[in-house]
Amino acid sequence: MSLGTSENNYELVSGLEIHVQLNTNTKIFSADSASFGALPNQNISTVSLALPGSLPKLNKEVVAKAVRIGLALNCTINQINHFDRKNYFYADLPKGYQITQDSQPICINGFLEVELADGSTKKIGINRIHLEEDAGKSIHDQDENYSLVDLNRAGVPLIEIVTEPDIRSAEEASALLTEIRKLVRHLNVSDGNMEEGSLRCDANISIRPKNATDFGTRCEVKNLNSMRNVRRAMDFEFSRQVEVVSAGGKIIQSTLNFDADKGTTSPMRTKEEANDYRYFADPDLPPVSISDAWLAEIKSLMPALPNEIWRQMVADFGISKADAALFAEDLSLLAYFNRALPNVKNKKSLINWLVGPVRAILSERGISIANFGVKPEQLAEALNLVDEKKLTQQIAIQQLLPAIENHDTEDVVKLAESLNLLISTNSDDLDGYIDEALQKYSQQVEAYKKGKKGVLGLFVGEVMKLAKGKADAKKINELILEKLK
Ligand code: ADP
Ligand code: MG
Repeated sequence: MSLGTSENNYELVSGLEIHVQLNTNTKIFSADSASFGALPNQNISTVSLALPGSLPKLNKEVVAKAVRIGLALNCTINQINHFDRKNYFYADLPKGYQITQDSQPICINGFLEVELADGSTKKIGINRIHLEEDAGKSIHDQDENYSLVDLNRAGVPLIEIVTEPDIRSAEEASALLTEIRKLVRHLNVSDGNMEEGSLRCDANISIRPKNATDFGTRCEVKNLNSMRNVRRAMDFEFSRQVEVVSAGGKIIQSTLNFDADKGTTSPMRTKEEANDYRYFADPDLPPVSISDAWLAEIKSLMPALPNEIWRQMVADFGISKADAALFAEDLSLLAYFNRALPNVKNKKSLINWLVGPVRAILSERGISIANFGVKPEQLAEALNLVDEKKLTQQIAIQQLLPAIENHDTEDVVKLAESLNLLISTNSDDLDGYIDEALQKYSQQVEAYKKGKKGVLGLFVGEVMKLAKGKADAKKINELILEKLK
């Protein structure tokens, strides 16, 4: 394809429809378990099966979670909203309609600011967020003659986040999805797992000549289930549309599939073939009414958002944005830090330990700080010993922290004492070690006296070895210099 120059004349325009599976225990309209990975058709009651006479009852937690994410995305919350029926026929949709929100969604008119690789930020409008139930799953590849239907997923709660057509590149789309995944996890709204389908999106894509103000006709690529595929689908669709238009053709509004193996899109249906869903308000469900008091309660239970957290930490402690972001993106780390903080004398050391050695220990074991055997208060005590020069940092990390994990005792200082880890403040002990070291290296001592000052490190190292690391290097240095005068 020799599209280089034509592609330069066009700009990509895109809006995403992002489906997020909420992490509630039960389904949106019944008490059936919403968990992933059960045996087929285990989590189904009369409601999931749509047996005649069964009625939906709204799960309050679903509403609270949708409001949380709506607030984080700067939306207006529609305190009165309602459910609609979206009618279509499919084997994995036993009611013959999906309960969703059409004319009055729960959240509207928000925005999200994302950061791009070049350091600039981009504000992307959120048109609406609506609540809906997921459909079941048809399985076509397990039996030669039959399709199998698993209704565990039927009724699992979803929100759909619909952006304005503000996206102008695959990078922006990727940045938006990354930020939304971060937020849903941070707010404990969803596990945000794209591989398991908890976060998936449809990308609406059109092109227009650069400098044009009107939008072109869009195509909608369905069910993109990884960040990489979103980028690939956008890149492919952009080139395809430029090719069609450059050759004098017209884009036909249509719904497309993405083939992840080939990296190409193919038509599913055009607008003429689109279903007429005959939306109408679901008569089985009363309108949702979110009282002022409940909205205020939900607001009060919101944690600070990642952007607020890292900015605050940079301002309070003068640390780098990268270090601050580690706390902003891991609430258990932040909680640990906040518990240790009042107990430490040196706040900066605490941060350095958490983003350095402690993080290394955790990542080596593949665990979260919530499962770390050293309590925040104990870590603070160990740190204070180092700051007071009673313990070397190396011994604290390599010996004291593991010892804290393996002992029941609460008293870190006593433990360090009983294990004989503290620095010997006793100059007599050190004196002996220094004599021993200088004797061992008598030739180098001569060299030192003749001006070869570089050998000093050798003496310090030897003394440190004799002291089994429990000595302050600076102090040893001073004492040796004194001796060699
Ligand atoms: P519908 O209700 O027909 O699905 P919407 O107006 O809700 O249409 O738009 C659906 C999605 O398509 C939104 O994310 C929106 O930003 C996006 N979109 C609308 N027009 C365009 C366009 N011309 N090019 C790219 N995306 C578009
Ligand atoms: Mg749509």
